[in-house]
Amino acid sequence: MSGGFTRQEIMGIGFTSQRRRDELVQRLREKGVKSEEVLDVIAQMPRHLFVDSAMAKRAYEDDALPIGQGQTISQPYIVARMTEELLRGEKKPRKVLEVGTGSGYQAAVLAMLVDQVYTVERLMGLYQETDALLRKMGFKNIHTQHSDGSWGWEEHAPYDAILAAASPDDIPESLLMQLAVGGKLVLPLGAPGGGQQLTVVHRMSENDFETEAFETVMFVPFLPGHQ
Ligand code: SAH
Repeated sequence: MSGGFTRQEIMGIGFTSQRRRDELVQRLREKGVKSEEVLDVIAQMPRHLFVDSAMAKRAYEDDALPIGQGQTISQPYIVARMTEELLRGEKKPRKVLEVGTGSGYQAAVLAMLVDQVYTVERLMGLYQETDALLRKMGFKNIHTQHSDGSWGWEEHAPYDAILAAASPDDIPESLLMQLAVGGKLVLPLGAPGGGQQLTVVHRMSENDFETEAFETVMFVPFLPGHQ
């Protein structure tokens, strides 16, 4: 990460300073995030650059924030938890697909931890803005596309891991099919009685999938089509 921002813009000042990032990391630790490598990346990542400048003051609160078009940048705790689940295990994922680029924050966190990140966004405006931001920040291993993530991104499949940043009621078949054997899908899955659960689906073999459910979460809906 370097690119078109000055060191000062990246490091921030006052409400966007390193001290605020360190305090956020402390909060995530208290909430139960254990992975040191994930916490390390959160401590470095200038989340204030992923939100509107009017919102920058709140960038290091552990909250989801609006990013326009009715969408949100995910809460840092959830980004950390999902990333931690995605990295867990003996074999570290190298190629990851994210559905729901949004602000690009989750993609940027992943890009510091795995080799290649493919990320798709269904809203044209967000896709364009975020793609420009990620280029400006100098990320070379994040590949973006404007499309409906229900279809995954066939061209680069299979993926060692897939992360959905929006919540579907049913798991899109294409995402399961684009997962490498031994890989996992991490997503906020809509629960039958309402609400959502952070869920990990492991692809054990060609046709055998195992599901684990974790805590209750709150994401924007996974919507069909792109616009
Ligand atoms: N990872 C993002 C989270 C953004 S919110 C971040 O760190 O900021 C989730 C995003 O998923 C929204 O931008 C929404 O437009 C997008 N989304 C919802 N359904 C989708 C789909 N079917 N395909 C692609 N993107 C989708």
